[in-house]
Amino acid sequence: MYIPVFSVRFNQNKNMRVKFILFDFYSFIDDNQTEIIKQVIKQKYFNSYLIYYKRTILMIKKAKRNDVNTALLICDMLNDFVKKEAPLEVPAARDIVPGIKKQIQLARKSCIPVIYCCDAHKSNDPEFSLWPRHAVKGTEGACIVKQLEPEKDDYIVHKTNYSCFYKTSLQTLLKQLGTTHLILTGVVTNICILYTVAEAYMRGYTTTIPGDCVAALTQKDHKYALQQMKRVFNAKIL
Ligand SMILES: [Zn+2]
Repeated sequence: MYIPVFSVRFNQNKNMRVKFILFDFYSFIDDNQTEIIKQVIKQKYFNSYLIYYKRTILMIKKAKRNDVNTALLICDMLNDFVKKEAPLEVPAARDIVPGIKKQIQLARKSCIPVIYCCDAHKSNDPEFSLWPRHAVKGTEGACIVKQLEPEKDDYIVHKTNYSCFYKTSLQTLLKQLGTTHLILTGVVTNICILYTVAEAYMRGYTTTIPGDCVAALTQKDHKYALQQMKRVFNAKIL
């Protein structure tokens, strides 16, 4: 009985499909109904759309189970930051891998979306006038470390600056997921984490930082940033 509603609204305004589907199915969708919707999409729409719609359905399922509207962000856990003798090595980044792994497991259990925010620089990126050349898009150095490899339901957002929001798709994705709260993990505490928390605060998100899941080049920087995030951006530090 729900399918015709889905189809009609869908045809009325394709640009609003996510909102309509969310509106129609948010409260009563279950796995069985998800399967039916998938079949309808397969029959009616081109293959090129299919992946997107599957993802949408997934988001609806997540939205229903994820009552607190939280997303887990994993920032720059890339070879060029984490590996020994990497160009922008943060030695302490290797110590936070187990903690992040735990957060990922917890998130997956609770249907919290896992979003990897990753540097993906151009080969002549302006950032390289300040920092050593790192995480150039398409190189091994820009890949997420093996121990934290994403799964197919996870999301990847590419960035070219400190804040994960700056000129990226993060805000759009969070809106689609219905996210209002972010758990931030990764590197570097006083750079990408701090500026992402700052921008999250200004955009109306609340944030939590598990202290054993972020790292900086020095303890001093790390402590300063945690304090700053707590005092200035009301972040919850665990
Ligand atoms: Zn960078």
